[in-house]
Amino acid sequence: MRKSILLPLLSVLLLSPGTATAAPTPTPSPAVRDFGNGPDRNDEAALIPEQFAAKAAETAIPAFDHNRGYPRHTALPIPPENPADASIKLGLIPHHAIAARLNDLQARSDRVSAEIIGRSAGGRDLYLVTVTAPETAAQAREQERLRQRIESGHQIPANRYKAPIYVNANIHGNEWEGTDAALRVIEELATDPAAGDLLKTTRLYFNVTANPDGRVGNKRANDNGFDLNRDFVTASQPEDRAMRQIMIDTQPVTMIDLHGYVNGTLVEPTTPPHGANYEYDLFIRNAYPNGLGIEAAINGLGYTPDKDGVFPVQIPFRDLDEGWDDWPPIFTPQYAPFHGAVAAHTIEFPMQVNNAAYNTLPVEELRRRAQINVNIASAAIHATYSFVKANHDRLIGDQTEVFRRGAAGEPSRVVPLGSVPGFGPEDQWNTTFPRAYTIAAGSPAAARLVDHLIANDVKVGRAVLPFRSGGRTYPAGTYVVDMHQPKRGLANVMLEPGQDISPRVNAMYDISGWSHALLWGATVQPLSDYRVVAEPVRVAAPTGFVPPGHGALALQLTDENDVIALNALLGRGVQVTWTANGRAVLPDSARPAARELADRYGVRFSRSGTAAGAALAPVRVTAAASADDLFTLREMGFSVTPVSTAVLNAGYDWSATDVLFVSSGLNYGALNPAAKAALEAYLTGGGVVTRGATGAAFNAATALLPVTAVAGRSDANGVVRLTSGDYSFVYSPRWFTGLGAGVRAEQTYDSFVSGHWRPNEDGTGGQDAAKGQAAVVSGRSARGAAAVLFGTEPMFRNHPKALFPQVAQALYWTAGTSGASR
Ligand SMILES: [Zn+2]
Repeated sequence: MRKSILLPLLSVLLLSPGTATAAPTPTPSPAVRDFGNGPDRNDEAALIPEQFAAKAAETAIPAFDHNRGYPRHTALPIPPENPADASIKLGLIPHHAIAARLNDLQARSDRVSAEIIGRSAGGRDLYLVTVTAPETAAQAREQERLRQRIESGHQIPANRYKAPIYVNANIHGNEWEGTDAALRVIEELATDPAAGDLLKTTRLYFNVTANPDGRVGNKRANDNGFDLNRDFVTASQPEDRAMRQIMIDTQPVTMIDLHGYVNGTLVEPTTPPHGANYEYDLFIRNAYPNGLGIEAAINGLGYTPDKDGVFPVQIPFRDLDEGWDDWPPIFTPQYAPFHGAVAAHTIEFPMQVNNAAYNTLPVEELRRRAQINVNIASAAIHATYSFVKANHDRLIGDQTEVFRRGAAGEPSRVVPLGSVPGFGPEDQWNTTFPRAYTIAAGSPAAARLVDHLIANDVKVGRAVLPFRSGGRTYPAGTYVVDMHQPKRGLANVMLEPGQDISPRVNAMYDISGWSHALLWGATVQPLSDYRVVAEPVRVAAPTGFVPPGHGALALQLTDENDVIALNALLGRGVQVTWTANGRAVLPDSARPAARELADRYGVRFSRSGTAAGAALAPVRVTAAASADDLFTLREMGFSVTPVSTAVLNAGYDWSATDVLFVSSGLNYGALNPAAKAALEAYLTGGGVVTRGATGAAFNAATALLPVTAVAGRSDANGVVRLTSGDYSFVYSPRWFTGLGAGVRAEQTYDSFVSGHWRPNEDGTGGQDAAKGQAAVVSGRSARGAAAVLFGTEPMFRNHPKALFPQVAQALYWTAGTSGASR
């Protein structure tokens, strides 16, 4: 039995510092984003085994070897045959057969090199294939030297440099055909004598399948349940870290990302808004012509609506007003420009074979469609390398100019109207670069941010001496990001607060707000001048600290790593007391463990005088949660048992549950009588933490806290400021009104900082309506259950790191008040 923790303890909780179904008759499918292919993250519970999250954290991405010549023949290990691979039904290559195919191509051609560049969440090999004319080691080193010259913004003799092209396939696992097209084109290039000239002037890099877990498993996400084409600014998943490393190491001038399914085929460039941190004049003048070339190649295949069900290509930039934008750098082609791609394209094949079509159409029809998609994807690859071959020197020059402007610290340029046909005022998006940013050193959050920037190839320095700027003094050791650097666009897109773009845009495709500066817990300041003596940083300095001497130690939960360390201490049986300030206190005898964890996680312990409070034990969480929530709960070191409505209906033993977390896939009304009775018994004293629509509905159905949950506009999202002065993140925001007896507002909305949040058509649900309303509430139900309800999104896609400890504190608090015995 646990001791009860008094309700007022929770008040520190939130003060952390810091189509479509298969259509027998062909119809064009609207250019609606293919995220419609998956269930809403509030509808389906993730039932993912724990092993995958752990693997994702461990997977190291090898650095690219610039010192070897080509070809680099690697004998790829052959995975065991898997007759259940979803590709087989479509007549496409299963993941287990790719390695043998690549080994064969390497044996037959001195143009083909294959290597393993990482492993998926599910442990499957990721293959990078390089196709180029043979190079000696000296020639490869010379190519790398030229690449570095370009990256530093220096002109090179372009005729001596092989333009890098990147083809990314199958990032959505159930959009299969990019992989088969890549293998087809690799095979053509391996042997075709006519390809000799192309391969002397280019290197083509193929990420053969970016998402083998999804390819095998007939699903959009990887085995952690993450959409890999939303993860580039966060890089929580090993597949994204592998793609990021490809883009840094190979520095493609042009890239294409192969998806499905939009009929007629969708080919970017995009509608506005355009990312404000790009050198967009250099981008659009290459991306638009390449898009037109891809269109011509695809339409040139001769497919027709009547004969084949294939409609003509659409280009969002030209053919749509809004809704297919390149604002957030979370997608591959919207991340690649920061590493020098001056043309980057999502391409959506036309013929649907996934979801309902996969399960209902005859196999022959599925295979007919899949072959059309392979042909279209191959045409897109052909068109792209032909474009690069024809515009080789200009693309290299434009990439050089991107980096030169960054290194010189030039202002963001306004792209002239009409610079390509149709480029209007709605396409003009700009930002203001500060001279530099500082990141205050000494916290795990600062170390995390610095290491993340470095992993993204952003240069970070450390002040050797104290310095002054803007009337403030910064101590020696402060991290500094000099914005006169080649990749300043990437630095700024992560460190600026962002913009509230609601006034200029009605419909957005995905998120519109993010900010590593405001949401990752470090203290980040822009500087208007830069007079700092700094030394380059390769890795953030250690931050862990245990005060010397003897006596009890305290750990304030302000960072995810604090939570990880606390859960590790609890797991080792250390006697932890949860005190009145949201602090964990451990006895003097735990000092060896504290020193080890301080060293490993960078957490900072302080002296503690008293240990008045409740004893804390490891918290066992039962979670009906979205995949990203589940991943983050486990990342924090909680023991989580995933459940869903169906799992509970099959009979669930609640005796080992300290807290129930509800954010997705639990519908109280759909529980059978036995499951309801078992749940009700748990709720008599059992703690609950909820998030979002599903959580609010659960609270209402079970009559836990007497509040009314109000939904904001469903597509609203971004960074919000709270009345406490802290920042939070929302997506489909909610707030709570009519707070009954014993319910307190833990957080209150103040203002919207960045992102997109308009009111509904009827004027409700806007950012003004949320102002002053409770964003997070806590309290105790009439049955004694402690509950915390989040209207914010504290674990969204594993991104808002500074908010994770809020969930942890809610779990410790509600578990502490529960009646669960162990
Ligand atoms: Zn896709």
